[in-house]
Amino acid sequence: MPSNPSDAFELGLPDGLHPDTLAVREGVARSPFGEHSEALYLTSGFVQPDAATSAQRFAGAEAGYTYSRTSNPTVTAFERRLAALEGAEAAVATSSGMAAITLMCLGLLRAGDHVICSQSMFGSTIKLIGSEFARFGVESSFVSQTDVGAWQAAVRPNTKLLFAETPTNPLTEVCDIAALAQIAHAAGALLAVDNAFATPALQRPISLGADLVIHSGTKSLDGQGRVMAGAVCGAVKHIDVLATLIKSAGMVLAPFNAWVVLKGMETLAIRMRAQSESAGAMARWLEAQPEVDRVFYPGLASHPQHALAMRQQGGVGGSILSFAVKAESPEQARRRAFQVIDACRVCSIATNVGDVKTIITHPASTSHGRLSEEQRQAAGVVQGLMRLSVGLEHVGDLQADLRRGLDGLLQLA
Ligand SMILES: *Cc1c(COP(=O)(O)O)cnc(C)c1O
Repeated sequence: MPSNPSDAFELGLPDGLHPDTLAVREGVARSPFGEHSEALYLTSGFVQPDAATSAQRFAGAEAGYTYSRTSNPTVTAFERRLAALEGAEAAVATSSGMAAITLMCLGLLRAGDHVICSQSMFGSTIKLIGSEFARFGVESSFVSQTDVGAWQAAVRPNTKLLFAETPTNPLTEVCDIAALAQIAHAAGALLAVDNAFATPALQRPISLGADLVIHSGTKSLDGQGRVMAGAVCGAVKHIDVLATLIKSAGMVLAPFNAWVVLKGMETLAIRMRAQSESAGAMARWLEAQPEVDRVFYPGLASHPQHALAMRQQGGVGGSILSFAVKAESPEQARRRAFQVIDACRVCSIATNVGDVKTIITHPASTSHGRLSEEQRQAAGVVQGLMRLSVGLEHVGDLQADLRRGLDGLLQLA
């Protein structure tokens, strides 16, 4: 081992490697045993060579692992690999995606500061910023995801953060990252982008001007629905603040979970390509079904921000789509959605996305269930809406699965 343990990660990779290469090669620190697969350091503490070195490390004057709430080599490996894929200088890992958002807000905001978010953001994000952080005096405005003018109009002298998510969950609304970065920077604020849906395989917000990227590693980064994980990526000056804060705040990523997601990232690009291709096929097929009212998928020409999405996401629509069944009333819509979901024998009824197993969800009663009906309407999450996170099954089997529930729907009261 090198005398400075963080040097162990410098394996001499050449500059300018492509993301596909970085996904399997960055963040490798071989132990003296020379293991090929990344080692898993399941340890809460680290033995110090002597008391003086220990003191230096605890004071932060010297690099070196001390205690896994501060840092852990497997977690460092995950952080380095994700930062490389996002084109960010650094990353700090957290126990979940929501922990990443909590850490970012705790680190960047104080009482009297103002945040602007899209009203279509992930339900727990709206709850966290709109309600929980409000208790600590953080002001927030929620604006239309797609109306750049509304973001501009919401800027106040105390605006510190613009926080966007694109595409959104579940309606896959797309916002213009470069335009929001301009608004944020002109106001002296930062732009954070939740990149959980597109992932760095399709979209790299920092290259479009974002300052911070939020991840739920629970989703496509793991990709096999095994563990919770999260991260904030960005410039060293911001990540250092958050890495210092997390030592006290404590929502660190467990080494085992870091290792699982680290290995998941090796196949991220090929999974995203294959799942996006199937999602596109499902979206086009659903659009042609008479029982379906609307399909929301950035890869469809009918999507309102199709051109922007294709520009921003490398021409790929992503693995997640939503669709609403036709209905006369919200009650009927909910019954019909439940019928489609309950007829599935291949798709799982679960609340996750980005898994290799296709998942069908009723957002109005799950991810957005804690919102008020008014917040839900503002987010466009109607009762007939279902979200499909498309996995790696054969598209024909998925279509047959949904067809079972759609059959006879229009005859039902
Ligand atoms: C799931 C999700 C989160 C929260 O991540 P967890 O790991 O579940 O805490 C945040 N943003 C988006 C867009 C998500 O899909």
